[in-house]
Order: sequence, then structure tokens, then C-alpha cells
Amino acid sequence: MINETPRVRFAPSPTGYLHVGGLRTALYNYLFAKRNNGTFVLRIEDTDRNRYVEGAVENLIKALNWAGLNYDEGPEVGGNSGPYLQSERLDIYKKYADELIEKGKAYYCFCTPERLKSLKEEQEKQKLPQAKYDKHCLNLSKEEIANNLAAGIAKVVRLNVEQNNTIKFDDIIREHVEFESNNVDDQVLIKSDGYPTYHLANVVDDHLMKITHVIRGEEWLSSTPKHVLLYDAFGWERPIFAHLPLLLNPDRSKLSKRQGDVAVEDYRDKGYLKDALINFVALLGWNAGDDKEFYYMDDLISCFSLERVNKAGAIFDLQKLNWLNAEHLRKKSDSELLEMLKSEIQKSKFKNGNYSDKFLLLIIQSMKERVSFIKEFIDTCTYFYEAPTEYEQKAIEKNWKPDIPDQLIKLKEEIASLNNPTKEDYEHALAKVSEELNVGKGKLIHPLRLAVSGQSTGPGMFDLLFILGKDEVVKRIEAAVKSISV
Ligand code: GLU
Repeated sequence: MINETPRVRFAPSPTGYLHVGGLRTALYNYLFAKRNNGTFVLRIEDTDRNRYVEGAVENLIKALNWAGLNYDEGPEVGGNSGPYLQSERLDIYKKYADELIEKGKAYYCFCTPERLKSLKEEQEKQKLPQAKYDKHCLNLSKEEIANNLAAGIAKVVRLNVEQNNTIKFDDIIREHVEFESNNVDDQVLIKSDGYPTYHLANVVDDHLMKITHVIRGEEWLSSTPKHVLLYDAFGWERPIFAHLPLLLNPDRSKLSKRQGDVAVEDYRDKGYLKDALINFVALLGWNAGDDKEFYYMDDLISCFSLERVNKAGAIFDLQKLNWLNAEHLRKKSDSELLEMLKSEIQKSKFKNGNYSDKFLLLIIQSMKERVSFIKEFIDTCTYFYEAPTEYEQKAIEKNWKPDIPDQLIKLKEEIASLNNPTKEDYEHALAKVSEELNVGKGKLIHPLRLAVSGQSTGPGMFDLLFILGKDEVVKRIEAAVKSISV
């Protein structure tokens, strides 16, 4: 066991966006580090030049920062184990590949793509469980190798996997894991372009960066036997492994773009709160052993443990995320919501409107229990920002009886006579008019709501009138009476 304070890393290959699975991996690493006074490192695994995407690293860092996953070492912030971009560490990998060749644990392979292709076809014909390199170049003599190198023949470096071995390792989540070495290919460690593959670079860096715990997605479990062989070949202590369960769509297929958004940036842009997304992602494969579902980052830090991560795949349930978003939104203070609403208004068609903080706070208080997203403080109640131009047809059919216009005009006159009305004043006005007209209050409330908001549902009636204000209410009743016809 490694006893020092933990050093963990998130090691994404920059694809242009941060996948929610990546966010989960980063979060668990972060929580584990914070819980144990450890260090959280960000390392960018960008050795696959074919996959280079302009601006990808910057996007990734931006998304991590947005989510509040601040790393202790990594690009932009630095640290003692840099550089933290693998593309800036190429000399290091070359040196370690040479060391393995020296020790007989790796070897040069000069096979042409044509030979590899026909080997693969041959093995497929024989119905072997998987295509594997046949170690042809392991048998080259020293002279042949020297001649090939001198002649500049294209080459790769391969790991020399000993046959008939059982490769064993322990994993905090998967427990004891074994792979038969006969099923492990002689993995390419250095490609013909001189760049290392993921496997070599990953192991070398985890060692040099003194990573104590490798916490990553289950899709990497089948790479781990190769990594274990590398640690052993170098004579290095292995880190502790923890492979996190797969993320699944509700139909239990692997989480994919086809079934919904997978980029953290998409959720951010759709208005999900970072607190809600972090809370949701934390529960994808972990629980504290009770039914608690609402967490802030600090709560997560204080109770997270790798031992409580499940093996079983975790279902990505969008409805739960929406529910958590609403829960987190409701827990925000009115002044936080005010700032968020103001910036949302700037993105909406009401950006040129002149709304006082007092007015917006009233909207917030009346709608807080009814919305799940900040933008719903606008979209579900546009009547606060502009007078309705349309009225819900179904509600007209149901509640707009022939005598309604006269009754509403009466009510309007009563309201117009009020001086600086409070909510209660509106309530009394309605009670008074309904008594005078001898109609139930309910008979007036629905058409009144329709007249001032265009809708049949919304916040409490008297809140609505109070927020809109006397003059606006009077104007809206007049307009509705003119334009609604049955
Ligand atoms: N570069 C790998 C990725 O993109 C890292 C896997 C690991 O953490 O070892 O996820």
C-alpha cells in the first residue's frame, strides 16, 4: 500500500469538449483528493496527433473551472511535475522506451502495414478470439535490427508480453482482477511517428508525477493489465487502481450522443446550475450509504469514499437532473437569483426592458416554487415583462361567459379607485365586487387571471395583481375585455 498523502490525476485526451463521464471522473478524483488532503493534478493526454482539435485544451480547462473542479497542478497553474501536456514530454517517453528495449521487455517491430493486415485476416479466418501480433520481430537478430535501424526502416516499439502468465491486480471497486497474458497483445508503445501510445505515456507520467491512485472509467480496465506489466517491467511500484462504473442510457446502452447531450458545455448552456450538475454526477455510481440525494460540493468532500462506489453501471436519468436543478435553484438566496435573472434577461428579448430590482425580486418570490430553471422566471411568465397579446383559448371557452366583460369592468373600476393597493386591498376589492354582483369569487378569479396574464395558471392571483401594479392591471382588463370574444 502507498501511505503518503494521495496524488491523483484527471488525464483527459482533449476532444474539444468535456464529456459528462469525464466530469464524473474528474469529480471523483477531486473529491478523493480533497477528502484526504491530497493533490489533484490535471494532465492533458494529447499524444494522438490525428485527433488534435484547436482550442480543445482551453475548452476543457474552462469547463472544469466552471464546474468548480480547480486542480492543484496542471497546465496554466504549473507544479513540480510538469510539463503537464504530454506533447511537451516526448523525450521522456523515448528514454523510457529505450530502457525497456535494453531490458528485453520491449522490442522494435519493423513489420509493414501490409504484413499486419494479412496477419489479422489470417487470424480472423482461424476465428481466434482476438487479433494479436505474432512476435515476428522479437526473433530478429541484433544485426538485422541494427541494419534496419541504420536503413531508417519505419518501426514501432512493442511491449514484450510473456505468454502463459496470469496478470493480477487489485482494484478498490472491481476488487481482485485477473487477465490471462495470452489474451494481451504486444502493445505498441512508440508509434512510427515517434509519439508514444496512451499506455506508455500514461504509465510513465503516473510514475513520474507520483500518482498514488489511478481513478478512471471502466472502459480503461482492459488496458490495466498492460499498464501493470509496464510498472513491473520498470520495477516501479504500482498505483492503487479504481475503475468507475460505466454510464448508461435509461435503456442500459452505453451513454451516447444519440440519446442526448453528453457535453458538460451543453448542460451549462441549457441553464443547468453547476451545483446541480455536480450533485447529479456525484450520484452516478456513488452514494453515502443512505437515501440522501441533495449535496453541495462541500458535503460531497466530507463524505466521499471510493469504497462506496458501485460496480454496476450508472443510469443517466435526465429527470433526476432536472429535479436536482429545481432543488438547487430553490435553495439559492433571492439576491443570487436576482443576479442570475438579470443576466438571463440580457439574453432574452426583454433585454431592453427597464425592470427594477424590486419588481424582479417580487417575480422571483412568486415563481420560485414553480420553476426548475432560471430561464423559466422569464419563459413561463412573460406576462410580467409585457402585456399579453394572446389569451389561452381553452380558458376562454371554459371561463369567459357572456356576462364576464361587464363584471370585469366593474372590478376594474373598483381597482382603479384604490390608493396604492396592497395584496389585501386587491383581495377585498374582489370580495366586494363579487358580493355586489352576487357571483362567486371563483367565477371572477379565472377570467381576471386570463385578462391580466393571458394564461390560466401562474402565481397566486393577488401576488400577480400586486406585482403588475394598479395601472397595468386596469389597462390589461380594458384590453382583454376589448379583444376577447367568444
Ligand atoms: N487519456 C485517457 C482518457 O482520455 C486517460 C485514461 C486514464 O485515466 O488513464 O480518458
